[in-house]
Amino acid sequence: MNSIKFRRNSTAVDVGNVTVGGHSPIVVQSMTNTDTADIEKTVAQVSALASAGSEIVRVTVNNKDAAKAVPTIREKLDNAGVDVPLVGDFHFNGSRLLKKYTECAQALDKYRINPGNVGRSDKQFTEIIEIACAENKSVRIGVNWGSLDQDLLAKMLDDNKSSSQPRSLQEVMHDALIASALESAALAEKIGLAHNKIILSCKLSEVQALVRVYRDLAKRCGYALHLGLTEAGMGSKGIVASTAALSILLQEGIGDTIRISLTPEPGGARTQEVVVAQQILQMMGLRSFTPEVTSCPGCGRTTSDYFQYLAADIEDYLKTQMLVWKQQYSGVEEMKVAVMGCVVNGPGESKHANIGISLPGTGEKPIAPVYVDGDKFTTLRGEKIAEEFKIIVQKYVAQHYA
Ligand code: SF4
Repeated sequence: MNSIKFRRNSTAVDVGNVTVGGHSPIVVQSMTNTDTADIEKTVAQVSALASAGSEIVRVTVNNKDAAKAVPTIREKLDNAGVDVPLVGDFHFNGSRLLKKYTECAQALDKYRINPGNVGRSDKQFTEIIEIACAENKSVRIGVNWGSLDQDLLAKMLDDNKSSSQPRSLQEVMHDALIASALESAALAEKIGLAHNKIILSCKLSEVQALVRVYRDLAKRCGYALHLGLTEAGMGSKGIVASTAALSILLQEGIGDTIRISLTPEPGGARTQEVVVAQQILQMMGLRSFTPEVTSCPGCGRTTSDYFQYLAADIEDYLKTQMLVWKQQYSGVEEMKVAVMGCVVNGPGESKHANIGISLPGTGEKPIAPVYVDGDKFTTLRGEKIAEEFKIIVQKYVAQHYA
């Protein structure tokens, strides 16, 4: 399945019951956008994200009400059987909150610190790391170019000015991002945090810049890396930008956990970022989450839109069935199903799938040949093609993945 031969050798970090890095599969994570102090809404969204496949969920801990809410959120999730690890996102007041609300510090599985606003020279940084050590928690040092450590950047720009071969502003800035992450990690280790408790990220919102920075960061350390384009945007732009950036890095073996930072459409589901993250990993051949439906785009050879409906129907069917199948059938997530619009590419594509169906194109006989494991299995016709095809899929799953 995995055609990527090389995976960067990173240090494995335990985040609750999930391991990031080392030889572990690349972990999908997400972040809530509810007010953390609103316990009911946050529990509901964390549950929805976990149920969609998020293996780690981050919540912002931005004030005392959020910090007070975290232990109850954890308890309610546990009571509901949702054991997803929780990460607390801390900024300017992180150490104050963690010191005052010890139950919050204990309930979280990882703390995320941004060295841009909890700087290395700041005693807050030391205090947060000391709490992480005392509570045996892992930490992500997450640098973001929107909040880069300004003192560090100013110093690097000064050094660059006096250099005999000055580099561009952009190059210095990229280097400052990496230096901020690495110097903060070195300081965290000096304070006492174990090497295998640290995950790094350096997020930017521009694809080529992200690729350059992560390539360099990956070369310069062995820490597990959290990948993601920050502020990726909305809709297809956000999906395409994230996919473009992450695919290059993942193909090079870089990245141990991913988060897709999509701006949801108003009223849109937060879980979309999880679905996109899973699809990137599945399309890259790195992990399998759900059976894959291959369908053709359609063209003038099939003027009926029936096959579009069938493809969508089958996709929905597989998604719904997976909730049950994944408990019962091992490996079913690797199944491939083809739904094609006519006989030109239909049988060929169907033969490459576990199960495939070609619907009749314009002027073709009103029949739909079905292939199973490369061989012609049956021909469906009439009004009930979709129902009969689903029965064939269900039987195949029961026989092959029990
Ligand atoms: S399979 Fe047939 S309908 Fe689909 S794109 Fe190819 S030629 Fe067109």
